[in-house]
Amino acid sequence: TAFSSLGLSEPLLRAVQEQGYETPSPIQAQAIPVVLEGRDLLAAAQTGTGKTAGFTLPMLHRLSEHRPPEGHMLRALVLTPTRELAAQVAESVTTYGRHLPLRSAVVFGGVSINPQKDLLRKGVDILVATPGRLLDLQGQGALDLSHIQILVLDEADRMLDMGFIHDIRRVLKLLPAKRQNLMFSATFSPEIKRLTQDILHNPTSVEV
Ligand code: AMP
Repeated sequence: TAFSSLGLSEPLLRAVQEQGYETPSPIQAQAIPVVLEGRDLLAAAQTGTGKTAGFTLPMLHRLSEHRPPEGHMLRALVLTPTRELAAQVAESVTTYGRHLPLRSAVVFGGVSINPQKDLLRKGVDILVATPGRLLDLQGQGALDLSHIQILVLDEADRMLDMGFIHDIRRVLKLLPAKRQNLMFSATFSPEIKRLTQDILHNPTSVEV
């Protein structure tokens, strides 16, 4: 498989090429066409497999296809268990999206909240967040989650291990019912399976 055969737009293929990637990893080859079709995805993938580009590239593609008249509106939310992973995913979003007119931000706990509020006030299309800080920002009226079209749960098993299940369920209640859901997990406990059943609609499963 070549990147050019997956259906991604030229600005994304250019960014991939500039990264020096020659061929899509197995998770990318499987996940990208599914996400581009608008389907829900359940992916069993460890870190190091290229899973981040696997959801970031098609997410950026879909968001750039239809842009809101106001310019920027929060339409994609990526939840991660830790601030380190959030920062890493946000960096990938910036890198792969650098030829697209989309804006992103990253928010996590343990740092002051006011700069994050200022950032959000300027308008972003994509937010990468840890669950607790996301809820704090929402509680303070700094976030409008009512236009979310794509939800990504990255390392969902780790989020549950870290006790984020109640936060995740609270976030879900704030999102529109009609949206695309992408879930990544390395392991599948009964608790994770229950979450997939509650979140994903007729998902395509991929495993690497
Ligand atoms: P991830 O599993 O998403 O954390 O990605 C692991 C590493 O693989 C990152 O450093 C990426 O920059 C790199 N990577 C992702 N996709 C590709 C690809 N198709 N070819 C080569 N390297 C890649």
